[in-house]
Amino acid sequence: MALSADCAAEKEWLADFAEVQARLPFWLSPLLRPRMLFLPRWWPNSVGAWSYLQFVFIGAGVLDAPDDVRHYLVAHEYGHIHGNHTVLHFLYWLGALLLILVYVGQLHHVPHLTVPGLVALLLLAAVTFMIGLPSLQREREYQADAVAALLYGRSAALAGSLWMAEKTGNLSNAFRQSRLRRLGWQS
Ligand SMILES: [Zn+2]
Repeated sequence: MALSADCAAEKEWLADFAEVQARLPFWLSPLLRPRMLFLPRWWPNSVGAWSYLQFVFIGAGVLDAPDDVRHYLVAHEYGHIHGNHTVLHFLYWLGALLLILVYVGQLHHVPHLTVPGLVALLLLAAVTFMIGLPSLQREREYQADAVAALLYGRSAALAGSLWMAEKTGNLSNAFRQSRLRRLGWQS
């Protein structure tokens, strides 16, 4: 796709992103405005969209996807932000930063476990657990899909999720199928 065509497509994604935020504002927005970023074409995993911190990343492989797919991906990824799922990333970095500060503060001493160090470790352990636990991961995906269905309707969300399942070859995956069924899929 030529650069100008990419540019036109990016505008559509950004317009959808502004729309979902207007319709369903995120409580942290006054402090941290959610932002959409487009991954370069050489990025290895191009078919997908991802949310991290307050950012939504769009892979080049979905840039010219049909409208339903774009709506679904924008609303699903924004659903992770709106549902506070990505607040876990902030807490993770807070714990990591605290741990680094404690460590740097002890550089010239025999290291020992201080209260701030313990807090940092517990925070990191709790957040790592919450990010990694499969049942919570699944619940977060269901919630993000529900936001997509709320914002663009179940049939658009289903069409988008099906398109992604076919593009990424995970239609036979049991979890993907359970997500699709919640959007009204009948196989
Ligand atoms: Zn997701």
